[in-house]
Amino acid sequence: MLPLVEARGLDRILDYAVPAGLAGIVGEGDLVVCPLGPRRVLGVVVGRDPPTHDGRLAELAGRVDAPPVPAPLLELARWMARYYLAPVATCLRLVLPPGGGGRPQRAPDGSWGVRRPPGPRERLVARAPDPGRAGSGRRRAVAEALAAAGGVLPAADLCRAAGTTPATLRAMAGEGSLSLASERDRVDALTGAGGPAPAPDAPPELTDEQRDAAAAVVRAMDAGGGNLLLHGVTGSGKTEVYLAAIAAARDRGRGVIVLVPEIALTPQLLGRLRARLGDAVAIWHSALGPAERAEEHRRVLAGEADVVLGARSAVFAPVRDLGLIVVDEEHDPSYKQDGAPRYDARQVAARRAAAAGAAVVHGSATPRPETWHALPRHTLARRADGSALPRVEVVDMRLQGAGPVSRPLARALHEAAARGEKAIVLASRRGFSLMALCTGCGWIARCPDCDVALVQHERPRRLACHHCGLERPVPGVCPSCDGATIARQGTGSQGVEAALRRLVPRARVVRMDGSSARGRGTVARLLEEFSAPGPAILLGTQMVAKGHDLPDITVAAAVDADAPLQHAGFRSEERAFALIVQLAGRAGRRGEPARVIVQAYEPRARAVELGARHAVAEFLDGEVGRRRAHDLPPFSHLVRIVVEGDDPAAVGAAADGLAEEMRRAAPAAGVLGPAPLHRLRGRTRRALLLRASRASEVTIPLREVLGAQGPALRRAGVRAVVDVDPQEA
Ligand code: ADP
Ligand code: ZN
Ligand code: ZN
Repeated sequence: MLPLVEARGLDRILDYAVPAGLAGIVGEGDLVVCPLGPRRVLGVVVGRDPPTHDGRLAELAGRVDAPPVPAPLLELARWMARYYLAPVATCLRLVLPPGGGGRPQRAPDGSWGVRRPPGPRERLVARAPDPGRAGSGRRRAVAEALAAAGGVLPAADLCRAAGTTPATLRAMAGEGSLSLASERDRVDALTGAGGPAPAPDAPPELTDEQRDAAAAVVRAMDAGGGNLLLHGVTGSGKTEVYLAAIAAARDRGRGVIVLVPEIALTPQLLGRLRARLGDAVAIWHSALGPAERAEEHRRVLAGEADVVLGARSAVFAPVRDLGLIVVDEEHDPSYKQDGAPRYDARQVAARRAAAAGAAVVHGSATPRPETWHALPRHTLARRADGSALPRVEVVDMRLQGAGPVSRPLARALHEAAARGEKAIVLASRRGFSLMALCTGCGWIARCPDCDVALVQHERPRRLACHHCGLERPVPGVCPSCDGATIARQGTGSQGVEAALRRLVPRARVVRMDGSSARGRGTVARLLEEFSAPGPAILLGTQMVAKGHDLPDITVAAAVDADAPLQHAGFRSEERAFALIVQLAGRAGRRGEPARVIVQAYEPRARAVELGARHAVAEFLDGEVGRRRAHDLPPFSHLVRIVVEGDDPAAVGAAADGLAEEMRRAAPAAGVLGPAPLHRLRGRTRRALLLRASRASEVTIPLREVLGAQGPALRRAGVRAVVDVDPQEA
């Protein structure tokens, strides 16, 4: 079995004997409890082989009463551990049933279990497809409340809304004016609202382009799998292609996984899936409570739900007989996990699909260069409603006065507000200003632990480090020259918010960013606030540009569209480009005339110019050429190693040593660095970048080198973090 213990020396298969009492009931994928020295640990059974060595084996202590991990997921987790150089226990946790990784506990009857979440609650739901206006008094209030909610409402909510008691509802049910049924409490993770599925709707007549694309996906599925790119301009109806392919998969008795970057930002997609497929859709979301998660897991395992919608981790859902994986907005950086194991859900999806003979459709209006280059491409060139893509105006900020909002943008927002219309405005950074500096001596407020500029926030007024969370008061006088000359420079989203309130007083400004949109249901609430009648501006960081299908946007703007270009990484161009194209896609989607205004300090930059022209093919062909010329992905694989520790000298020596060892151990790989990174939480850091035609040319020797150097690194208090296929480098 593989122990679920992240410890050196335990990152391997351990052999145990099966006691007579468990013979015949322990199989592959089962969670078992095993003695390990004085401890009892959990592990996952990976096979039943005759022992590979002599000597007496310890016996399994018990089997946990939980569904076994399906074989394809077990294999997937073991592949991830190899590919991403991650502890196998960390990878296994991703495929365990909910609550499966807890501490083993022995029940009074001697059986083993892990602490299990409570079962789902049942609750009463009232339904009346066509609530009449009949009746008077309380009955009338009930009918009206139900009608306002679209015909279905949990009974408790209905009583509250109508100011009545369950007795009234029961009486009405007796008369046949509504029906009451007990339903499992499944919360819509998105909205935070509970609820039965929305009314079913029928698919529209597909366009020829949509039909061709869907047919290609189905052909791939029937031919035993394959990846393809669905490149569709914003509003071209990619979702209908997914839905047609999903229907075909289900016709064939095969399951589906739909991956989205951030489930809270895609309520429309969930709504459309549930309207089309009803309870066949399960939701995979970290914000689900333990009981809800267990219930969704059960429904998927049992085959009651054969379509799973979720972010990154939904790629591990135990969907049976997988036929199709949809990766929506495939360009989104959040598909890469930013902590161990540093997996890429797109890569894992391709691997899982290959093993299952399933098709993967990667959809985007702005695909990544590697996807563009490597995958067969199907294009939706026109918007479903026939509307034209909006013209994008680029404002050269070097010619504008101070302040984050240019004159043309202020005028456009002002006019839209006067007409009662809605606008969205993107600001790349949160915070009020980007730094506090002394205009007398040039001193800049920096994080003492991370060596980066602190960001000034208001309400409450403070300086904050966006890397480690440290907070400091804003100094009244300069700590360096004692001058009362501390000023703010640059503008974050809070600063833009203040400027907008001043310049466009008529419009309600709703700010949605990492600071304001935390917690369950908040995004939905902010979107609701924005959608309420009257002029409004939705101001936010990039999350605002992600896949919303908002109504009535007549101005879409970016205050610093070229901000991504200031990062040195090899993806900065495509990020700036995607930001502009996706932003333009949020506007004018129902044929209303719309203005798209892009402010830039480098208006002539390729990403800005081509983004403003929606020149996706031209831009991506150029990026692929650049990647080829510099031997970057997909023409090579990168592996990034960050060496970090408290002692700068030890970190420097360790990074140099590691680079030298890797040059020796992986002669075919290129080794760049070590390069210094800014400190983080007081820890010195160095980065190494390795490049090879296959990841394994780096990871196999690296595993050995790290194994050999491990004890010395640990003695020196140094850690090496490995990132295979990093998204930033
Ligand atoms: P995308 O995801 O490509 O940006 P959507 O899938 O959100 O686009 O589709 C945009 C709009 O067009 C939606 O309102 C959708 O209902 C509508 N739509 C898509 N396909 C069709 C079609 N074949 N006929 C009519 N309307 C369609
Ligand atoms: Zn000073
Ligand atoms: Zn810091």
